[in-house]
Amino acid sequence: MKKKTPKRHFWRNFRFRIILALVLIGLIPFPLLFIFTIRSYESKMADKYLSSIKSSAHVLADRMAGDYYWTRQSSELTGMLSQFGNQYGGRAVVVDYSYTVIADSFGEYNDKTIVMRDINRAFSGRESGSYDRDGHFMRAAVPIYGTDGESVMAVLWTGVPTTFIDLIRNDTYDTAVMMLIATLIVIALLTYLLSFLLIRPWRRLGKTMNDISKGARDEELNIRTYNETTDISESFNMLKNRHEVLDRSRSEFVANVSHELKTPITAMKVLADSLVEMQDVPPELYQEFMRDIGGQLDRETAIIDDLLALVKLDKRSAVLRISEVNVNEMLENLIKQLGPLANVKDVSITLESHRSVTASIDEVKLSLACMNILENAIKYNNPGGSINVSLDAEEEHCVITISDTGPGIPAEDLAKVFERFYRVDKSHSGQMSGSGLGLAIARQSVEIQGGTIAIDSTEGVGTSVTIRVPLVVDSSSLESAGDKP
Ligand code: ATP
Ligand code: MG
Repeated sequence: MKKKTPKRHFWRNFRFRIILALVLIGLIPFPLLFIFTIRSYESKMADKYLSSIKSSAHVLADRMAGDYYWTRQSSELTGMLSQFGNQYGGRAVVVDYSYTVIADSFGEYNDKTIVMRDINRAFSGRESGSYDRDGHFMRAAVPIYGTDGESVMAVLWTGVPTTFIDLIRNDTYDTAVMMLIATLIVIALLTYLLSFLLIRPWRRLGKTMNDISKGARDEELNIRTYNETTDISESFNMLKNRHEVLDRSRSEFVANVSHELKTPITAMKVLADSLVEMQDVPPELYQEFMRDIGGQLDRETAIIDDLLALVKLDKRSAVLRISEVNVNEMLENLIKQLGPLANVKDVSITLESHRSVTASIDEVKLSLACMNILENAIKYNNPGGSINVSLDAEEEHCVITISDTGPGIPAEDLAKVFERFYRVDKSHSGQMSGSGLGLAIARQSVEIQGGTIAIDSTEGVGTSVTIRVPLVVDSSSLESAGDKP
């Protein structure tokens, strides 16, 4: 089922998210800064205003003390009291020790009794003052001392509205909002530019990858602006190289297959053509040529069988049929089957069982591997040579080693004998028929079960192939089987 590609909404863009994140991060400190600045400005202003009121009140209170204002209210000082109140746009009153108003700048509260906390405090000898932010009001009270300079005879109290502080605060607020909007615009513009720069390497990465995948460019991906783009470049290059290796090995494989399949056909064509061209061919020659053609057909069939075996062993399509297998018996049977071939070559085979091994494996695939290795050990052995098959179990693995006394394999060829169609040069392989697929099949059959295969050889001494497969094959080992050329 085809996967649905998600819609490309703009909010899925990495760039959009960067802009959003930067704008948000840039804006978070703003409200705090905003509130803090306005509040501290306001309270400084209020403090200053209050202390100015208090100091004017002290001056007036001192004058009143000197003039015994609590005993007689001179019109000069009462005028000054009104002036003081007007100066701040509020009311000023003088209260004597019985809390009776003896002078009021508005003239309304005369002879009335006023009890207030501020006045109480001032009677105890401490000046007082406060700013009521919500009431838009400020008040202050200062003591008027008697002749001894210690006893408080009266209190000068004043209350003034603070509308101008509200006006200034609102003004500042408006300015701050304007600044906030301006800053927002600047931040948005800067992040837009910044995001463009930040995103550029990613864009380049995507475009180059696209070009390389479409074949428009054939170069290594090399975008090293960020560690992340470097990592992606390296992973992509690894993938690309792996793809190239696979592609190359596939082409080589196809070329080899065609070549190998063509060889017997060419031979048959030559044989058939020569029979057609010859006149009065004796029946014996016919028979001989037809036998040769039959031989070539057998070879062709063998190659096709091997190729089919390899295809079946492909990790994508292979199926593991795991069963409890007595490996000793399996090897005995194989040796028995190959007995006639060994007799023809005059090669003896011995089975050296270190213990009885029962394993949960795919018997057909393990037999196929052992069969191909044993066939090689017989085929390439010297007449009169011997083969030793040893079976052991160690560390949860079944270990089978097949050693022969053949001519050995040159060191430079050893690493390649597992490749498909690889044959050590003809003089070494002699006239032995073969397509070079046997060891590839053996390797695939073992690795698909999570096992390993190793070859060791000394020229003139012999060759030894070791197979290790888990005693209990896990069918998930199919996943880990190599996809080697
Ligand atoms: P096939 O097995 O497909 O019929 P083959 O025997 O040539 O053909 P492989 O079994 O893959 O192919 O072996 C690859 C090559 O390795 C052989 O051609 C041979 O040259 C060399 N080789 C393999 N086993 C031995 C051995 N026991 N002693 C010497 N050379 C060997
Ligand atoms: Mg072989």
